[in-house]
Amino acid sequence: MYAPSSYGNITWAVNSVTHLWGYRNYETDEDSRNNIIVGLIANGEGWHNNHHADPRSARHGHRWWEIDNTYLTIRFLAWLGLASDVVALNRARFFGFGCWKSAATAGRSPKKPSACHSAG
Ligand SMILES: [Zn+2]
Repeated sequence: MYAPSSYGNITWAVNSVTHLWGYRNYETDEDSRNNIIVGLIANGEGWHNNHHADPRSARHGHRWWEIDNTYLTIRFLAWLGLASDVVALNRARFFGFGCWKSAATAGRSPKKPSACHSAG
């Protein structure tokens, strides 16, 4: 009884807390944030700003300190041959040359996010 309730709370936290409190690696067109507490208790799901910036990537933790146990599990399953076609981090976005600019490279000239959105 305890576990399902906790999972519900964690899911709620990912979709609400991470739009209120935390830091941003990327200037996305909404208010998503990376929340350290949610990031740790939700096994990486709390790196929500990273997820919004690169929604197809299996990897939500983009900085070395953003521990992402879910991604590590996916990598392990892929190593065992039990997962395939794992979508990697979008390097262009990560380094600030793509659709989303990294806060660390904000001085560069990225494209406007709306011009880069692809369907899906
Ligand atoms: Zn969100």
